[in-house]
Amino acid sequence: MELNRVTFAYKEKSHTLHEVTASIEQGKITTIIGPNGSGKSTLLGVLSRHCLPQSGEAVLDGKAIPAYKPRELARKLAVVHQQNEAPSDITVEKLVAFGRLPHRKMWTPGGEEDDAAIEWALELTGLSGRREQRLTEMSGGERQRVWIAMALAQRTPILFLDEPTTFLDMFYQYELLELIRRLNVEHGLTIVMVLHDLNQAIRYSDRLLVMKEGKLLLQGPPEFVVTEHTMKEIYGIEVAIRSDERTGMYMVPIGVK
Ligand code: ADP
Ligand code: MG
Repeated sequence: MELNRVTFAYKEKSHTLHEVTASIEQGKITTIIGPNGSGKSTLLGVLSRHCLPQSGEAVLDGKAIPAYKPRELARKLAVVHQQNEAPSDITVEKLVAFGRLPHRKMWTPGGEEDDAAIEWALELTGLSGRREQRLTEMSGGERQRVWIAMALAQRTPILFLDEPTTFLDMFYQYELLELIRRLNVEHGLTIVMVLHDLNQAIRYSDRLLVMKEGKLLLQGPPEFVVTEHTMKEIYGIEVAIRSDERTGMYMVPIGVK
């Protein structure tokens, strides 16, 4: 995917994204970071056709994203939004089955391929044994897995996740990040996500995109993007960069400047 000088505004005169030029590499994990309101979700919106740029171009596989038909794009990329709401009495399996809609003809029951995709998604997210459970009876972390399973059932080569770990406790955060890594390494999915925790972003990403005030400030591998100097520039915090033999590079916030 390529973004070429993309400018987008929800309202006239105020630019939410300003001339963003970036590339997202196939088969990699790319994480968008940056302060609140910097345009991270909007950037995902442009890449998933929810926000149409006023100028510039967003391209997927050589074709401008606004030129895709919704179904056609839904076979290429699946999105797990930041906040999701399900009908109150829906079960896990029924919700996950919605992921098959872009592949099915209207008013026809699902076929073998649909069933296989649903099983695959349930299996990967550890939900096979809980298919009959209602979402209202699950914890936040478990519910988040159901939304991811729905996106996986779509069987797209690209997966977007907007702050998937927010509101989860530490165990579920790392369980989810490990799942995302598995989806990338073992199943070849291209991942684009938004994370708030910089150390998680460093550890689980091949590349980082840094947004600030609607502009893309930096892009590249974590060790290039996260330095004492850049953290001061972007977040206004003083940090120390350290390394651990098992987890690699990480940063320690020292204080605000
Ligand atoms: P982030 O995800 O980095 O927190 P967003 O992309 O959600 O930032 O928002 C960027 C800016 O656009 C913010 O100033 C936000 O208030 C504004 N914005 C986001 N969504 C809308 C919307 N639907 N209508 C108008 N303004 C919006
Ligand atoms: Mg956001």
